[in-house]
Amino acid sequence: MTLPSITERLRAACERHGRSPAEVALVAVSKVQPPERVEAVLHAGHRCFGENRVQEAQGKWPAWKEAFPGVELHLIGPLQSNKVRAAVGLFDAIHTVDSAKLARRIADIAQQEGRCPRLFVQVNTGEEPQKAGVPPTEADALVREVRALDLPLAGLMCIPPEHETPSLHFALLAKIAARNGLAGLSMGMSADFEEAIAHGATHVRVGSAIFGERTRAET
Ligand SMILES: *Cc1c(COP(=O)(O)O)cnc(C)c1O
Repeated sequence: MTLPSITERLRAACERHGRSPAEVALVAVSKVQPPERVEAVLHAGHRCFGENRVQEAQGKWPAWKEAFPGVELHLIGPLQSNKVRAAVGLFDAIHTVDSAKLARRIADIAQQEGRCPRLFVQVNTGEEPQKAGVPPTEADALVREVRALDLPLAGLMCIPPEHETPSLHFALLAKIAARNGLAGLSMGMSADFEEAIAHGATHVRVGSAIFGERTRAET
């Protein structure tokens, strides 16, 4: 568990770029990690976590939420419409809104349940065919749709292509967010969270650098 060293790197990156660490949430990505590793981070006092699968999160987080008050849970993986009710009940934020249809479904369920997670629109900044997210050219339209539904939109999220310079994608996401008046930027992972902070990230999603390598495949 290397939470203290990551927290320190986050703090130093903020200092280098004239930002306050209070503006940057460290989302500890606990997907497929052995429970004892997650519990170590909970016992260390960390409360902000990310999961990429609704079903996996449902299996472990209700008990941890009971045991460790103040947990804030972020969904960072794709959301299917049949999982929206479960996701709205369990998560405090959903980072992967990528269609008007999904936004409408979230709005319906949120109305019924009387609660709605904060939302991020996922942008496929690399325009990779296999990747989730709206293409950059359609991001403004989806932002408008989400706002028209009166949903709590926090910002944008991206996952840069593996073999490209992440900073170009972070800069593009920041630009789209700025022109839409959005403050939230969910970007940066273990390998590049400091660069993401340089580009204005408000939520960095860090898994293996905190918990260690994942021992089993995530999808
Ligand atoms: C797994 C995952 C992360 C964390 O990845 P690490 O490289 O382990 O930090 C961040 N964001 C998303 C969307 C993920 O699926």
